[in-house]
Amino acid sequence: MIELSKSVSKINSSATITMSALANKLKSEGQDIISLSAGEPDFGTPKHIQEAAIKAIKAGKTKYTNPDGMPELKEAISQKFITENDLKYEATQISVGTGGKQILYNALMATLNPDDEVIIPAPYWVSYPDMVKLAGGSPKIIKTASENNYKLRPNDLRASITEKTKWLIFNSPSNPTGAGYTFKELKKLTDVLLEFPQVHILTDDIYEHLTFGNFKFVTPAQVEPKLYSRTLTCNGVSKGYAMTGWRIGYAGGPEKIISAMRKIQSQSTSNPCTISQWAALAALTGKKDFILENKIIFQERRDLVVKKLNGINGISCPIPDGAFYVYPDIKQLIGKKTQSGTVIFNDEQFALSLLEEENVAVVFGAAFGLSPNFRISFATSTHELQIACDRISSFCARLTN
Ligand code: PMP
Ligand code: GLU
Repeated sequence: MIELSKSVSKINSSATITMSALANKLKSEGQDIISLSAGEPDFGTPKHIQEAAIKAIKAGKTKYTNPDGMPELKEAISQKFITENDLKYEATQISVGTGGKQILYNALMATLNPDDEVIIPAPYWVSYPDMVKLAGGSPKIIKTASENNYKLRPNDLRASITEKTKWLIFNSPSNPTGAGYTFKELKKLTDVLLEFPQVHILTDDIYEHLTFGNFKFVTPAQVEPKLYSRTLTCNGVSKGYAMTGWRIGYAGGPEKIISAMRKIQSQSTSNPCTISQWAALAALTGKKDFILENKIIFQERRDLVVKKLNGINGISCPIPDGAFYVYPDIKQLIGKKTQSGTVIFNDEQFALSLLEEENVAVVFGAAFGLSPNFRISFATSTHELQIACDRISSFCARLTN
């Protein structure tokens, strides 16, 4: 039997993807599963974007492009950064990859050496620590607290920076909590970062367009222009444009990092799908009214889910500022017994028992580095969300001491 690499043995499969796949498998076997595990919009890709892709195919735009994106798309991304984020990135400072995921991975592969530390506030998106490990670095996790709405505090950031810190990974609105940093809150963090020139900022802005109420999205290099030269601003079309399967993500940042990322891509995947690049161009340059329409629907669902969950004894659910997740705290349910006698000794057991007894798939908090919680993606029809919350409620009502 072949011996696997040391780096692959240090990582797990993505828990979000594993949970979604399990839910899909059970569904295909005929079980009445409601899956709240997948972090992807349930809306279809808008028509004008689909049509741009079909047009590209028919016009023969089916060949390789530059490894890190075609000039037309880089130009559109450059414009997007100017108009939406007040950031100026030339084409040579832009990288397009196969999803935001590949962009983040390339950036870490391009910059990490053994011993380099990467600060990751928890709860975090499941892939960050494992990507850091794959790239040979060490994740340094800072736990946040529900009292602070799961946001990183400036003093905690300062206390965890060492000589070896290379990156801070920043994600607002956050997966899995939906917490968003206001200008003022982010400024306090960027003030700390100004004190430490060795630290770079990898900001994951993928949920930029999914914000609620009065929350206004801002990104680190916009809040503190002095950090521009050490920030990699990452984004993509998956979430805001309902284009998860098209696989287009991008970043703007220092030319040195961008060229190293290009080198990696030229030796691994080559260019992201050409047809998807034409579709992403249509997304970034075309009409955007659907973004607002989708946001209104997501906000209604958020309000429904938060209200329903907070009505359940033992569950406490903060109100997210953006994205399409809630991350309720289930401290009070740990140690209780299900009707079949299983002890809910941690959040993973909670998720497993909920799936077994009520056919509702959620992702357990341990996968995101902060327990005991679970994540619900409310990118699901309002009808299904209602039924799922009722099932969670009856599951919890049956728990005994
Ligand atoms: N960052 C975060 C926080 C995410 O939730 C996701 C979703 N998979 C991604 C990046 C990557 O998305 P994609 O690769 O589809 O662009
Ligand atoms: N980002 C989504 C999620 O967190 C998609 C799955 C993944 O890439 O992890 O569920």
